[in-house]
Amino acid sequence: MIRIESVRYRYPDGERHVLSDITEALRPGEFVLLAGPSGAGKSTLARCLNGLVPHFYGGEFGGRVLVAGRDTRAHPPRALADVVGMVFQDPEGQLTSSVVEDEIVSGMENLGVPRDAMRRRLEEALDLLGLAALRGRRVDTLSGGEQQKVAIATVLAVHPSVLVLDEPTSQLDPLAAEDVLTAVRRLNEDLGLSVVLSEHRLDRAGHLADRGLLMKGDGAVASLPVRRLLATVPYPPPLAALAARVG
Ligand code: ADP
Repeated sequence: MIRIESVRYRYPDGERHVLSDITEALRPGEFVLLAGPSGAGKSTLARCLNGLVPHFYGGEFGGRVLVAGRDTRAHPPRALADVVGMVFQDPEGQLTSSVVEDEIVSGMENLGVPRDAMRRRLEEALDLLGLAALRGRRVDTLSGGEQQKVAIATVLAVHPSVLVLDEPTSQLDPLAAEDVLTAVRRLNEDLGLSVVLSEHRLDRAGHLADRGLLMKGDGAVASLPVRRLLATVPYPPPLAALAARVG
């Protein structure tokens, strides 16, 4: 689904490569957790998956990323939006319309989805994220968790094959975070959507993923089972720490 081949990247004013010689592959339907301390490069790697790096950020990019066979060097984010849906940290900042329904339709309009299909997919996205009751609401009256679900519904309506979420719960309270992440897991299980979730709070997301990608801050990425990931991080979730102590 996604192939990352010998990727190196440095921001325009960066002193060092944030990503150095990363090679990885994401299989269709896989749920991968991107973990590591703040500043390790999780967001940067996520930005490589939809072409924001290098098209929006510039800088020095080497190697290549293929998404559904498309080379991101030749395809800017607009030309990848039908295969990769991207959701960011700030729930409100990424919404562009004032009403929920209009927001969900906006992503499809940008990609020229025909009207009939648009109506059908709007209903489907509202249903999948449990937003039907909020369809007529102004987005600025919603909670952070509800806004984040609207953002997910908006990219989902485009029918991408991969959903990339960059710390989507960092501004949410624990209950809203669990609600959003449970919805993401359901989309992965029910629709077979591939998911890349960047999250430094492993207690929130560790149990959802099939595999972990750990970034330690040296530009490299290590692929490991979630169980091992939880055992290697300095501050594991309490339950994982307890399980490790009792063997
Ligand atoms: P994480 O998501 O793991 O917190 P980031 O990918 O945001 O890490 O950042 C990795 C490194 O790249 C950090 O040193 C950060 O300061 C730097 N960085 C992030 N965004 C930019 C940018 N737009 N311009 C220059 N440097 C950046």
